[in-house]
Amino acid sequence: MQTEATATLESIVFDRKHPYSAAVLDNHVLTGSGSEKETRHIALSLGDSGITYLPGDSAGILPSNPSVAVEEVLRRLSFRGDEPVKDFYGELTDLRAALTSWLMIGKLSGTTLRAWAAHSQHPDLALLLQPGSKDKLDAYLWGREFLDLLEHAPAKVEDPQQLFKLLPRLAPRLYSISSSQALRPDTVDLTVRVVRYESYGRTRLGVCSGQLGERTPVGCTMPVFIHSNKLFRLPDSPDAPVIMVGPGTGVAPFRAYLQHKQAGRGRWPMWLFFGDQRYAQDFLYRDEFEAWLADGTLNRLDTAFSRDQAFKVYVQDRIREQSAELWRWLDQGAYFYVCGDSQRMAPDVEKALLDAVATHSGCGPEYAQEFLADMKKQKRYLRDVY
Ligand SMILES: Cc1cc2nc3c(=O)[nH]c(=O)nc-3n(C[C@H](O)[C@H](O)[C@H](O)COP(=O)(O)OP(=O)(O)OC[C@H]3O[C@@H](n4cnc5c(N)ncnc54)[C@H](O)[C@@H]3O)c2cc1C
Repeated sequence: MQTEATATLESIVFDRKHPYSAAVLDNHVLTGSGSEKETRHIALSLGDSGITYLPGDSAGILPSNPSVAVEEVLRRLSFRGDEPVKDFYGELTDLRAALTSWLMIGKLSGTTLRAWAAHSQHPDLALLLQPGSKDKLDAYLWGREFLDLLEHAPAKVEDPQQLFKLLPRLAPRLYSISSSQALRPDTVDLTVRVVRYESYGRTRLGVCSGQLGERTPVGCTMPVFIHSNKLFRLPDSPDAPVIMVGPGTGVAPFRAYLQHKQAGRGRWPMWLFFGDQRYAQDFLYRDEFEAWLADGTLNRLDTAFSRDQAFKVYVQDRIREQSAELWRWLDQGAYFYVCGDSQRMAPDVEKALLDAVATHSGCGPEYAQEFLADMKKQKRYLRDVY
C-alpha cells in the first residue's frame, strides 16, 4: 500500500547538500483579508525528479537572504562582494553569494553575539555575556538581525573568510507536506505561515517564510529536499481510526492524510480538530475539509475559532467537550496525531487527552498516564510539533 522503500531509494539523490530545484506552480494566500496572519498555499513541481514522499513527511527548503540585506552587510563591513571565499564544503565562491546562500544574517544567534563581542570588544556586549545575564541576552537577541549588531557595535572585519566563523550556517527550514502523491504524483504542497513582525523600527520577515511570501512568484524555483518522517505515518492497518489535532499550519499533514484516503489508500475513520483565530478569515482549506466531511472521507470535524466569541476557545477545549466520544475512539484503538505549536498547544492537548482518558475510562489519572505510555509504545500517540 505505502511505498516507503521506494520513497527512500528514489529521493536519496536529492538531499540537503543536493536539493532539487523545484518550480513554483502555485503561491496564494489562504487567509482572508483582515486576518492577523498570512498563511500561504504553495505548490512545487517535482517535474521528472523521481522524488517520492509519503503523508507525514516534510519538505526542506534552502532559503536565501534578500539582496537588500546582503548589500547592506557588505556596505557596513566595507566589502565589495566579489572577494573570494570558501563555502562550508571548501568550494570557492564569492562573498556576495556566501552572504546570500550560506550565512545566517537574518536572525541573531548567541554564538554570533559571543564571537562579535570578542571581535569588537564592545562594552555593551560584554555586559550581556556576564554570568546571570541570560534573560537580558535572550531579550537582546529576540527580533534582532546581524545588521542590528553591526549598527550597535561596529567593527572592522579584515578577512571576509572570517565571517564563516562569526556567522552560523543558513539552515534549511522544514515544512509539513500538505499533499499526497497518491492524488497528486508530481507536486509537493506546503502550507506556510509568513513570519512578519516589527522590531527596532523595521518590518522584519522570517528568512524562509518571508522569501516564500514575497520573493517566490509562480515560475521561479526553490531548492527542496524531502525530510522523511517515519514517526508520523498513517496506521499500517487501513481500518484503524485516526484522530488528528492540527490547528493553524498544523493542519498541513492532515490534508495529506485526507488526500491519501480520498485516493483509496485506506479506509481509516478520520476525525479532525482544527482551530485558528476566526472562522471567516482563518479556516484554512475550508472548502476541501467541508467537501471531505460531506462525502464521508472525513468522519468528524470539530473546529475552535478563538476570537469569534468573548472568551477564547482552542482545540483542547473542543477535545474536552468531546471527551466521551474521544475515549470511545481511543478504546477502539484510534491513533492520535498532533501537529503544530510545540510551546502551548501540544502540552494543552496532551492534558486534555489525559483528562479524557482518566474520566471516561473510570480509572483515574494514574491509569491515564499508563494508557498514554502504552499508546506511545504502540506508536499510536504521534506528534510533529515545532
Ligand atoms: C518538522 C517541522 C515542520 C514544520 N512545518 C511547518 C508548516 O507546515 N508551516 C509553517 O508555516 N511552518 C512550519 N514549520 C516552521 C518552519 O520550519 C520555520 O521555522 C518557520 O517558517 C520560520 O522560519 P523563517 O525562516 O521564516 O523565520 P526565521 O528567519 O527563522 O525567523 C524566526 C525568528 O524570528 C524571530 N521572531 C519571530 N517573531 C517575532 C516577533 N514577533 N518579535 C521578534 N522576533 C520574532 C525569532 O527570533 C524567531 O526565531 C515547521 C517546522 C518543523 C521543525
